[in-house]
Amino acid sequence: MLNVDLHCHSYVSDGVLAPAAVAARAKSRGVDVWALTDHDEVGGIAEARMAAEQFGLKFVAGVEISTTWAGETVHIVGLNIDEKNPELLKGLHETRSGRERRAREISAELAAAGIPGAYEGALKYVGNPDLISRTHFARYIVERGLCADVHEVFRNYLAEGKPGYVPHRWATLKESVTWIRAAGGAAVIAHPGRYAFSDLAFDELFKEFKSYGGTAIEVVTGSHTPEEYGIFAKAANRYGFLASRGSDFHAPGESEMDFGRLPPLPGSVTPVWHDWKI
Ligand code: AMP
Ligand code: MN
Ligand code: MN
Ligand code: MN
Repeated sequence: MLNVDLHCHSYVSDGVLAPAAVAARAKSRGVDVWALTDHDEVGGIAEARMAAEQFGLKFVAGVEISTTWAGETVHIVGLNIDEKNPELLKGLHETRSGRERRAREISAELAAAGIPGAYEGALKYVGNPDLISRTHFARYIVERGLCADVHEVFRNYLAEGKPGYVPHRWATLKESVTWIRAAGGAAVIAHPGRYAFSDLAFDELFKEFKSYGGTAIEVVTGSHTPEEYGIFAKAANRYGFLASRGSDFHAPGESEMDFGRLPPLPGSVTPVWHDWKI
């Protein structure tokens, strides 16, 4: 059976490795079919594709678009995109554009909470000046010894309701799906288990996503518990979605999310790659 991993990050967004190094890690941990899905950015795709070819990995060009739906942040992955598509590029550029100001606001909030200099501190971890992320702040706060790991930073400072949280408006769901489809890609709801939605809200999200041409949801991801694999496998079948699988790897040792750790998709679902030439 092919090991397919369709979600991860390089230092072009909030990962720590170069795209080629992410490819090497995927290969060494048994991945056969691999997508790079940096947040709101396709700048790593060319390097990733070249490295994948070199290592004998089947490459899938991807992206993970930050999206606001019902006032909450939802991530929409695009797979098999044409990363040169002008409509997609323009949309991603717009989506990235608010990050700098948001980062300054996060820094001011953290200073008020007793952590000065966080903007400059976070910048040390940023690989792409267009893409300063909460993850970079988290790494700095760990470096300062204020929290044991990035999860604790999110729990105490960066998650909604915490002192360093700054609300932000990203792309709309319609925009994300439309840009991905314009670029010839398949749109996938990333890690649905991470959203604190009621059953009713999930029902609306899935139906609306479908109405725009959304194709799949992630079922097996580093963000889900084994129980959630079952819950979202059922949801995929109920709403007529294909199922995706991906580690959401960001950095060696930073979390449990890494290549080669996830089980296969449950047999009950249809993989998003079922009709790909692989
Ligand atoms: P941003 O796009 O700047 O809002 O940052 C979102 C990123 O923060 C996600 O893609 C994750 O990599 C990371 N993140 C969000 N929540 C957590 C958490 N609870 N623990 C660790 N990382 C998280
Ligand atoms: Mn991330
Ligand atoms: Mn995500
Ligand atoms: Mn991700």
